[in-house]
Amino acid sequence: MEKCYENYILIDIGANLTNKKYSRDLDTVVQRAKDSGVQKIMVTGTSVKGSKEALRLTRIYPGTLYSTAGIHPHDAKSYDDQSWEEICRLVENPECVAVGECGLDYNRNFSEPEDQKAVFEKHINLAIKVNKPLFVHERDAFNDLVEILNKYSSKLPPVVIHCFTGSVENALDYLNKGFYIGLTGYLCKDKSDTGVRKLLVDNLIPLDRLLVETDAPFMYPNTRASKLPVHVKEGLTERSTTFLHRYCTFQRNEPCSLPAIVEMIAAFMNKKPEEVALATSFNAMKLFGLS
Ligand SMILES: [Zn+2]
Repeated sequence: MEKCYENYILIDIGANLTNKKYSRDLDTVVQRAKDSGVQKIMVTGTSVKGSKEALRLTRIYPGTLYSTAGIHPHDAKSYDDQSWEEICRLVENPECVAVGECGLDYNRNFSEPEDQKAVFEKHINLAIKVNKPLFVHERDAFNDLVEILNKYSSKLPPVVIHCFTGSVENALDYLNKGFYIGLTGYLCKDKSDTGVRKLLVDNLIPLDRLLVETDAPFMYPNTRASKLPVHVKEGLTERSTTFLHRYCTFQRNEPCSLPAIVEMIAAFMNKKPEEVALATSFNAMKLFGLS
């Protein structure tokens, strides 16, 4: 901890640390995250089994790891009442700080949209019941997702649109509803003129609604390949890129890539990375009640 003052203090609100890619060296991955400045990590639960495992990990790394519990829209087809009871039990635990990941994904439609919608509504009702934030995944399903959430608008707990990849228009709509936006290394992949980069450049996300996450092992922020503006490239510090380039790859991103992501977000917003780090960590602590 002695060199802590050199670091940002960051919270990764979504990392899939139950993924088997970490089964051999999770200790090292968590320690590396801390060394890079990522003090707390929320481990995403995307299935009954995964949510159980995520909760188990919080017991091994108390105060560092937290979990979520839910069924990913890809797996909506696997829903049954018995497994749902398990999700309901899991979210009662204090270390489980959000309901999800849940939502709609029409990009690949691994489950039928009708199944996805039904399972999503189960999560919404559960989040309302236990009064924990809803951790939402949405791909190419903006209209249906909003239509469903609108039905519950007066009762909803805080809603986080995790790994946001949509348009400026969608983001503004989410923000109008009071939702939070989670950003990842997708920033490097975004090639549109009306997407995440535009949102940041035009300063359309208030700092008090922004959260940051790696979605590791996915969403590797490929700072080399993407055409980043010069001032964004220059905003990357040697320290953050060392963690990124030494330990993270396309095959396996890690939470220690978060400082680089925050530096890019800050550069696009024309703000100091320290300011983005402080705001997003504060938001995460408050929203998810992290100690
Ligand atoms: Zn997701």
